[in-house]
Amino acid sequence: MAFDVEKFMANVTAQNPGEVEFLQAVREVVESLADFLNEHPKYVEYKVLERMVEPERAISFRVPWVDDNGEIQINRGYRVQFNSAIGPYKGGLRFHPAVNLSMMKFLGFEQTFKNSLTTLPMGGGKGGANFDPTGKSDAEVMRFCQSFMTELYRHIGAETDVPAGDVGVGGREIGYLFGQYKRIRNHFTGTLTGKGLEFGGSLIRPEATGFGTVYFAQHMLAEMGDTIEGKTVALSGFGNVAWGAAKKLVELGAKVIAISGPDGYVYIKDGMTPEGVDYMLDLRASNKNIVAPFADKFPGVTFIPGKKAWDAKCDIAFPCAFQNELNLDDAKGLVANGCKMVVETSNMGCTADAVSYLVKTIAFAPGKAANAGGVAVSGLEQSQNAEHISWSAEEVGNKLSFIMKNIHDTCVKYGKEGDKINYVKGANIGGFIKVADAMIAQGLV
Ligand code: GLU
Repeated sequence: MAFDVEKFMANVTAQNPGEVEFLQAVREVVESLADFLNEHPKYVEYKVLERMVEPERAISFRVPWVDDNGEIQINRGYRVQFNSAIGPYKGGLRFHPAVNLSMMKFLGFEQTFKNSLTTLPMGGGKGGANFDPTGKSDAEVMRFCQSFMTELYRHIGAETDVPAGDVGVGGREIGYLFGQYKRIRNHFTGTLTGKGLEFGGSLIRPEATGFGTVYFAQHMLAEMGDTIEGKTVALSGFGNVAWGAAKKLVELGAKVIAISGPDGYVYIKDGMTPEGVDYMLDLRASNKNIVAPFADKFPGVTFIPGKKAWDAKCDIAFPCAFQNELNLDDAKGLVANGCKMVVETSNMGCTADAVSYLVKTIAFAPGKAANAGGVAVSGLEQSQNAEHISWSAEEVGNKLSFIMKNIHDTCVKYGKEGDKINYVKGANIGGFIKVADAMIAQGLV
């Protein structure tokens, strides 16, 4: 029974009409797994991939709340519990106006592979709402989070499903969500991660995704006999993930020359300073979702309206904002400007054609490998909560660094093609095997 990519995709497309992002994420995985599946027919025989593309459960619910003007607002909330073969569902919540079922499913599907790569016992899930936090007051965000949790609480739990942050959901939102969960359930457990340090959060969790992606980049460079010191770097976004990456890059002596927002990007001629890194937090906290004020604050910084950070000449690009934020034209522009490496840090940050081009042309890491440090430290937060203890920053940092090295080694093991490493293939095969074997062992459930 040979595995046929197009036949498989025709079925998935018929089952999930119009779910563009989900189908994009599935196709990438299926294409990289095809040869492997044909070499290991038991996975085809047990229809493991057919089962993996079907979420175990997808919940959609009404989230009513009242804004500061006393007007009633209605949003749609989601939790997609994708795969629990290797552990309780685990994955973030995204609050963004574009959130829909397709986005939740693509993120939950990717999360299953990513969580498997971390080697920790975490299944895959994702959730969120089409709520736009931009410009909302703290009180509005709190009321929204409380209403969201008033439905979500019945579907989650420390041994069932453990949500965390994602785009639009940071420490503030997790605090409000946790408070409401605790109030309803009367349980103080590690049911959410990314919590404040005072109530069970882990040191290094805020930095983890950004630090992890830079560690991953260091391993990629080492593979090519190079180091990160002195490299010029363009980042997109200025949220939590971009902040963590910038912090580690500056510490390691790389030159961060661009960060971006929906309004354009700022070009930082002499490279970002530690003060610039700290200011990224103020920018995010201002809740305006614009990067332009960075140029007013620091000398030698120019704001380029309406353009992406990929216009800046750099050695390494880290997309850290949103899916499909780097397209084929951007990829070609980066390469023409001498870029040697793209480290996808947002989930599915590059379009499918950009990924194919980059994999063939320069070094490219997919988000499910490079950005796994965030969820990995969430897993470590769960362990600390379960033991009722907290580890030192050094202990968590060392574990994160070890996990990122393991993920890199897995990508090399399964992605080696001659003298090149296909990190997309390596991450997909490496993430697949553990989940697939667990599913076979557990029977048809
Ligand atoms: N949202 C992050 C991700 O995409 C973190 C998830 C988590 O910590 O559970 O992996």
